[in-house]
Amino acid sequence: MQIENDRYPNPQKQGNFGGCLLTIIILFLFLGFFPLFNYPSKTEVPYSQFRNQVREGKVGKVIVKENKVEYFLKTDLNKAKKSKSGRLIPPEKSYVTVPLPKDQTLPQLLEDNKVEFGVRPDSGGNWIFTALGWFIPPFLIFLIVIWFANRVQSGGDASNPLNAGKSKARVYLGDANGVKVTFADVAGIDEAKAELEEIIDFLKNPDRYTQLGAKIPKGVLLIGPPGTGKTLLAKAVAGEAGVPFINVSGSEFMEMFVGVGAARVRDLFNQAKQLSPCIVFIDELDALGKSRGGSGVFASSNEEREQTLDQMLTQMDGFEANTGIIIIAATNRPEILDKALLRPGRFDRQVVVDRPDKLGRLAILKVHTQNIKLQADIDLSIIAGRTPGFAGADLANLVNEAALLAARNHREAVTIADFNEALERVIAGLEKKSRVLNAVEKKIVAYHECGHAIVGALVSGQVEKISIVPRGVGALGYTLQLPEEDRFLMLESEVRGRITTLLGGRSAEEVVFGEVSTGASDDIQKATDLAEQAVTMYGMSQNLGPIALEKAQSSFLDGSPNSRRSVSSVVAAAIDREVREMIENAHHQAILILKTNRDLLEEMAQYLLEHEVLEGDVLYSFLNRVQAS
Ligand code: ADP
Ligand code: MG
Ligand code: ZN
Repeated sequence: MQIENDRYPNPQKQGNFGGCLLTIIILFLFLGFFPLFNYPSKTEVPYSQFRNQVREGKVGKVIVKENKVEYFLKTDLNKAKKSKSGRLIPPEKSYVTVPLPKDQTLPQLLEDNKVEFGVRPDSGGNWIFTALGWFIPPFLIFLIVIWFANRVQSGGDASNPLNAGKSKARVYLGDANGVKVTFADVAGIDEAKAELEEIIDFLKNPDRYTQLGAKIPKGVLLIGPPGTGKTLLAKAVAGEAGVPFINVSGSEFMEMFVGVGAARVRDLFNQAKQLSPCIVFIDELDALGKSRGGSGVFASSNEEREQTLDQMLTQMDGFEANTGIIIIAATNRPEILDKALLRPGRFDRQVVVDRPDKLGRLAILKVHTQNIKLQADIDLSIIAGRTPGFAGADLANLVNEAALLAARNHREAVTIADFNEALERVIAGLEKKSRVLNAVEKKIVAYHECGHAIVGALVSGQVEKISIVPRGVGALGYTLQLPEEDRFLMLESEVRGRITTLLGGRSAEEVVFGEVSTGASDDIQKATDLAEQAVTMYGMSQNLGPIALEKAQSSFLDGSPNSRRSVSSVVAAAIDREVREMIENAHHQAILILKTNRDLLEEMAQYLLEHEVLEGDVLYSFLNRVQAS
């Protein structure tokens, strides 16, 4: 269901100089070997035959080399001509033989038979190789230097294959070909669509705005987490506006060499001016728009980025408003963008493309299930409800997984069961039936997961499914807890409840076996992260109060680590203490709950060991019996 660039034709094929260089190298190799075929012929003969020929007096001249002997027959020497200078040209035909190692009798034999002989050191071959050995490396270096120099300098001449300074932008003409993305393909992000609809209107009826003296915005920045449809939205704008759409990615400007990026930016804007009115779309703007002044390890790469960015700023200032060029850029890291990019007159419009809510997800699911055969009674809103936090790309992936599963099971249409299995795959990873646990491990995993479920049922909401079938990268078993609705806030009690639930697994191991396994490491990691965030970001600790102790860095990419603010060692120690206390409290509570429900834990674990999966009514009948401690 991915809509990718390569469904569009690519009108600009770039020349490739690499092939040319290769030809030259191959040519030289060939030239280097060529003289071999021209060389005087040498016949190899056995050593015994050579000695016989010496005794018979047929040999005229012998040259002893390091590990072989070359010789000429008298008959051939007699035929040899003299050169103009009077020197004897050695005959064409010669013989070589390999002597026995350390044969000391050879000089005596040669002397006895009055053969002219001498020693010449083995030169290792052909003079032409020696000459080429001196000549080729500098020549190659020279070629490479010329090549790079050309890459840097070449301007926008399309007939020149060495055009590195040309922008790598691809131009799509809105209405030209069959496949095009339209607004109908984009769902669930209506605010962003509305903003862009305005842009399309600017392009279609510029007079309406300019008449009133209004300036049409130059730049629109789409901000949002990955997979929410920023690229898709930009493509849809192109499809809708019916103007040329120039697509380039921020990383495509960057090269190793200072100046290339700037040249590409210039070229991009020249291209845009020729095609105006048009839309320029710069994907992943953060690749070139990182704020300046950072200290990089590689000074030159920094300089290249700064020059590129400067050129970008200059170009954006350079063209007048109302020329019909609108620049749309996308990023998921707005906080690292250079402030200069965001000021009025540049990317002054910022449109947030956020993860969709339940209705949005339903709309996206509808778009992506259009061409998929669904069972008649399937209710997409249930699936939308079960996928909070999913972005458009995740939903597209989910639909595809469900369709694949249905196909694998030879079903006529996709059922809700396929969706559920697909959802589990997406969340927990593929089933790993091949990972066979031994009896003891299985038992530990069963108690561990039941521990999560029992604690969870009490402090953080209903569990949906428990399984001890290994999945994904590391999960030996898992407890699935899906929220019924979108949540935008978490109460402190809920945060603490989550931490307690996370520790429920390990606590069950402690209660049942009296010792713990390595299986809880992921739970511990998550619990600690959450506790640390509660203390340092949400101000949920009594002692430290509502003070931000961590710098929020990325609002749209989860999982990127935040950095501690500079705090005194006293505060750092206090943070550690608070985090520890939060975790210990949770741990204590989990143990208490499990001790209270010891019998239930036993029953559930036995059932799970037998059936491997525990869900639906059976699960609920167990969990309804959970008692508060
Ligand atoms: P982004 O650029 O924000 O990271 P993309 O635009 O590349 O995300 O989205 C990837 C894919 O996910 C799209 O090609 C589309 O199939 C699907 N998708 C994402 N958001 C939406 C949406 N709002 N409506 C429909 N499909 C979407
Ligand atoms: Mg994108
Ligand atoms: Zn666990």
